Amino acid sequence: MNVYLNGEFLPLDQARVPVLDRGFVFGDGVYEMVPVYDRHPFRLDEHLRRLQASLDAIRLANPYPVETWRERALQLIASQAFADQSLYIQVTRGVAPRDHAFPPGAVPTVFMMAQPLVTARPEQKAAGVCAITAPDVRWLRCNIKAVSLLANVLARQQAVDVGCAETILLRDGFLTEGAASNIFVVRNGVLLTPPPSHLMLTGITYDVVLELAAANGIAHEVREISEAEVRAADELWMTSSTKEIMAIVQLDGQPVGSGVPGPLAQRMDALYQSFKQQVMRA
Ligand code: PMP
Repeated sequence: MNVYLNGEFLPLDQARVPVLDRGFVFGDGVYEMVPVYDRHPFRLDEHLRRLQASLDAIRLANPYPVETWRERALQLIASQAFADQSLYIQVTRGVAPRDHAFPPGAVPTVFMMAQPLVTARPEQKAAGVCAITAPDVRWLRCNIKAVSLLANVLARQQAVDVGCAETILLRDGFLTEGAASNIFVVRNGVLLTPPPSHLMLTGITYDVVLELAAANGIAHEVREISEAEVRAADELWMTSSTKEIMAIVQLDGQPVGSGVPGPLAQRMDALYQSFKQQVMRA
């Protein structure tokens, strides 16, 4: 597998970053994860815009113009032996003597890798997954796609420890998001999801789902959702670039709705799959 590091394309096992990289020492960096279908990156412009927003939020100048990002990403994608990929992009504040304050003159470290894309198997989609809830103990800038993911790592592991796929995070009695996904609720035929804010990352998949709901006349509301509403959901979904639309059929050991993926999840998944196909053909 080839990767991209600071202007060079090279095999993964030859890519090296100095230990004083601030990504390693402080988690001082941001990232993106772009699904690539048959060598077509999905919503690359949107991912690059979100990368810019994350860089702006951590006050790190974007090392490349969009055109350079696009060219180098496409070059990396083309160099892999496999067609469906997950393109990982990371920018850190670079290598410098350890000191919290920004190092004057440090050059950002740019890393990209394109791994084989692992999406849910059809039988997994058909069965749905279980999830648990946990208090959202993260900081108040969750809209930044930062590489410092310790709280998310711990939250996801809590789910894995009990054989579940995701931990749904609740802050002050309200839904924020999953450890590594956005969460949608269906109640009485209406699709609900929390509004973008500093309390969650606005997923690219989240945006696509809302666009598809609007385009297909699916009733939806973007508003705060209480824990009680989450627990009384007819359907619960997690969404992300790799999980796509995944039904959660059990929450904290209780069945969600009828305990199987609901009709709206199945409809949205079908809309999402055909949207992907259209975009790939365009
Ligand atoms: N929230 C968090 C915390 C995430 O890590 C992710 C996935 N990276 C998402 C939401 C979903 O974002 P996307 O749809 O862009 O993958």
